Order: sequence, then structure tokens, then C-alpha cells
Amino acid sequence: MNEIIRKPNKFRVKPNMENYEETYKKFEWNNFYDEIEWFEGEKLNAAYNAIDRQTKTWRKDKVALYCEGSNGTSGEYSFLDLQNLSNKFANVLKEYGTQRGDRVFIFLPRILELYVSFLGIIKTGAIASNLFSAFGTNALEDRLRDSGARILVTNSELKKRVDEIKDKLPELKHVMIVDDEGTDEEIDYMGEMKKASRDFEIEQMHPGDPLFMLYTSGTTGKPKGIVHTHYAILQEHLTMKWVLDIQEDDIYWCTADPGWVTGIAYGILGPWSNGTSSVVYEGKFSPEKWYSLIEKRRVTVWYTAPTAIRMLMHAGEEVAKNYDLESLRYLCSVGEPLNPEAIHWALKVFGLPFHDNWWQTETGGILIANYPTMSIKPGSMGKPFPGIRASIIDDDGNERPVGKEGNLAIKPPWPSMMKAVWRDAEKYRSYFKKGWYITGDMARMDDEGYFWFIGRADDIIKTAGERIGPFEVESVLVEHPAIVEAGVIGKPDLVRGEIIKAFVSLKKGYQPSTELEDDIKQFIKKRLAGHAYPREIEFRESLPKTQSGKIMRRLLKAQDLGLPIGDTSTLEER
Ligand code: ATP
Ligand code: MG
Repeated sequence: MNEIIRKPNKFRVKPNMENYEETYKKFEWNNFYDEIEWFEGEKLNAAYNAIDRQTKTWRKDKVALYCEGSNGTSGEYSFLDLQNLSNKFANVLKEYGTQRGDRVFIFLPRILELYVSFLGIIKTGAIASNLFSAFGTNALEDRLRDSGARILVTNSELKKRVDEIKDKLPELKHVMIVDDEGTDEEIDYMGEMKKASRDFEIEQMHPGDPLFMLYTSGTTGKPKGIVHTHYAILQEHLTMKWVLDIQEDDIYWCTADPGWVTGIAYGILGPWSNGTSSVVYEGKFSPEKWYSLIEKRRVTVWYTAPTAIRMLMHAGEEVAKNYDLESLRYLCSVGEPLNPEAIHWALKVFGLPFHDNWWQTETGGILIANYPTMSIKPGSMGKPFPGIRASIIDDDGNERPVGKEGNLAIKPPWPSMMKAVWRDAEKYRSYFKKGWYITGDMARMDDEGYFWFIGRADDIIKTAGERIGPFEVESVLVEHPAIVEAGVIGKPDLVRGEIIKAFVSLKKGYQPSTELEDDIKQFIKKRLAGHAYPREIEFRESLPKTQSGKIMRRLLKAQDLGLPIGDTSTLEER
């Protein structure tokens, strides 16, 4: 695979981290404590770092948030605006008895009130969490019950789903409505905010005190309530600076919803801690809308996900040509393996590659990444962030040699490492083995220290004595001219143990046929390997995904084998 050599002298701005290797060698977290602001006695508050410290500088009037409503409205809010609003909200929470450690949940679309509430909750020392606005009653009930949430902030539309399950949630004391007065039992957000003071004494927290909790995507099973601490802000700040390369004049757009960890770490805490102007778009994905937003706001740094990139590719290059996308200077991707084809496509269409990076809800921040000045090897997730030691280990916890595949593992701790799995100490312990944090992903490291994703441990296919990662097969499948998306599973087979089965969706203008099936098989045999081709191919309109856009291979497998389909609370609605 051809390397993409980066030419920093051609960059529009000088990258924040000029030399990855050197930085990695010298790096120690304690040399970077001053990147964030501390209170007396080594206390801190992540919301103070994100917002209030900016208002002590010229950034006070800088735009922190550009809100783009789904109905065409838009708004701009400075750091000072967000300070005032979040202080007010913190006072409202206090009024209703909120204490340190209480869980306060937000169930809202990406509107101003989501961001104000999130910051306000953190200022009180309570634990904040977001529920993705597409969640149905089962997903809501699971999370609200498991977390024992005390207050829920929502709107008049989404509240209808909460009403259906409220009786089953004894710990939920208050529901707050942001867009109307609500019933007598509900709290009227607007009314309370009008009365509340702009002054609030922010709670000073220990670095290890909980900050937010969030349930994982549920790609491989039931979502887990992952708890993060205030100290995470250090890593979120520094990765934002060195991986996303955020700089003073940037206009930044993270497309992830704050119902997922990317939307919190890199949609709220990381960018604002760096004093960044951020764009938030309330509405649904559409190539035209997304491009027009980049054009309108002159977005420079863009952080998105492979599923969105594949949809943009599907819409075609011609659509992109209708917009002025010249403002873009740096692109990143996370959440799923980034197929090499997507990187080449971006180079052609935007003149820029996507920089893949890898992390998880549990890791709280980026751990492996491609950096601005480092050559990109398409298909690789990059190298460990300074301060992070990553390795490939076997099932007994022994390190494997260069080039060999195994479990991707990280040496704990790091600042944004999860503190707990909510109410499940055993689950938390199960992540660690022989001094390593086990990620649940399979990978290998090459002789230059680049990490290559192979698949989730649960998805690895064992066929005729070989272990095959679905990502490798899927990546070649999506290079076939007829294929938009592919999901690959292992299907039990008497002779081979498992055979490879592929589920694919087709581009416009292509029809399923046995000829096409044969052509696809030949294509894989030629490009990948004789034994790694899918013996079965099933054509689908679309593939099942989590609401965060990840292909659910376990669901494809369960459907295929007629097994129980397990937890589907995060399945995207179609
Ligand atoms: P659950 O743990 O409940 O099954 P999930 O793992 O999908 O859900 P997240 O924490 O949102 O929940 O996702 C992290 C996972 O996403 C990683 O473990 C990895 O499998 C995948 N992932 C994230 N970034 C990348 C990447 N750059 N390349 C490949 N895979 C990635
Ligand atoms: Mg996971």
C-alpha cells in the first residue's frame, strides 16, 4: 500500500506537534499539567477548564459555538455567553437539590440547551450523561434505571418517550423541559433560567472524581456504563491539540452526537478547553447539507466517521463540486476502521487525506492516531499518542513480536482512562490482565510501529486453520465498483470450521445477480488471497448499524444463523 508522505512546508499553518517521534520519546504527562488550569490543592473542574478560563482572556468574546438548527435557524454564542448560561443552569440544579455525584442526564437533540446543561451539571460536581435523541423507550429505560439518574433534561417532543417509562424509574425525581413550561410536576427550564443568577461557585473536584458517564455503542453486546473523571480533560485537551491539530483561528466541526463519547470528548471538552470555535449541526446527515455547512461556516478542521465518509462517497464526487470546500485544512476520522479507499477518495475530492485515529468509550480520549506530519499508511490507525504504551499481546498477556496479530492492549493508567463500569466492578476488572488494559480489538504492529486494526476479537473468523479479520475482507469488498458497504462474518461450516460470508449493499444502478456475485468473489481472490474470499455473498438494501454508525456484525451473524439477536437498543432505526 502506498504511503502518503506529508509535506509540512506545504501546510497552511504550522502543526502544533512538529515531530511525533521526538515528542513521544521525551513525553511525560507531568510536564504538561500546566496545559490545564488547577485550583488550590490540586483540584480542578473540567467545565471551568473548557469555558471559564477562556473568559479571563481575550477569548471571552470569541465565538465558542455556532449552532445550526435543523429548521434553518442559526445562533452564535461566545465563551462568556456559555459561562453565564451554564452558571445559571448550575444554580437551577442546586435549587432542585443536586449534589456532587448525582447523575443528571440529558436527552436532547444537538441544540444550545444540551451544551449549556452539560457544562452546568459538571460545574455542580454532579455526573453528566447524554442520551442520543433517537433512543427509544427500551434504550432509555435501561440507561436511566442502571445509572439511577435523578434529573433528566429533555424537550416536549422527546419527553413523550420518557412518560411511557417514568413509572419504572423510582430514582428519577425531576424531568426538566427546555422548550415549554411543562406540567406542574415538571421543571420549566426557561422560567428557572430567567430567575437564576449568573454567579456560581464552581465545585472544585479531585482529579479522580467522576465527570461524566456514558454507555458504549453496544456493537458487540449490551452497552456498559463507563465512568470518566475530571482528570480526563488533560488528555482531551492535549489530543485535541496534537491529533486534531486545533489552532486559534480554526473553525472546527465534530459531526459526532454527544450521545457518543466522541461528541463529548471532541465535541465539548477538548475543543473548548483549547478555546476553539465549534460548529454544531442539529439536523440529520445529508451530503448537500453537510457540504453547505462547511462552505457557510468556512470549516477548517473536520472530525467525522467512516460511515459518513462512505455515504459521501456514495453520493459521488459531483455533489462535492457544487460547494466551496477550500476552507478545509485538516480531516480526521474515528469510530470504525477507515477503508484505504476512503482516504484516496478524500485526497481526490478535498485534496486532503483523512487521518484515522483509534480509541474507545472506555479510553476517554484518543490513544492511537495519525499525526499531521507523520506519513499515512492507508488502512493503519497510526501510532500511540505520546505517553501511551500500546502493544499486541496473546491471550495469556505475553507481548507478541512485530508483525504478529493479537489483542490490542494498553499499559494503564492514562489520564482519561475509565474509572469504573457503573455498578459493575466485575466487568471493570475483566478489562485488565497481567498489567494490561485489554481493548477487545485485534490488531498488529508493523516494523515502523504503525498499528493495523484487524477486527473486534468477537468478530474474528477462523476458516480452515486461518484467522481472518473482517476489516481486511471488507476493505477490499468496498473497492469493488458495485459495492457501497460490506459486513463480513464467519459462518459455521463442517469442513472448514467457518466460512467467510459477506453482506453487501450495492451502488445505484447495480442489481444483485449470480454474475455479480462471481465477479465479486474473483475480485477478492485476486486482490486479497485465495482462501480469504467470501464463499457466500448476500445482497442487502443496507446493513444493520448502531446509531453511532457502526456495522453490527453480531446482528448479521445472529440473523443468518437464526440465533437470538441480543440487545438491539442501539440499533439504528430504518
Ligand atoms: P460495545 O463496547 O458496547 O460493543 P463499541 O465498542 O462499538 O460498543 P465504542 O466505545 O463507541 O463502542 O467504540 C469503540 C470501538 O470502535 C473500538 O473498540 C473499535 O472496535 C472501534 N473503532 C474505533 N475507532 C476505530 C478505528 N479508527 N479503527 C478501527 N476501529 C475503530
Ligand atoms: Mg467496545
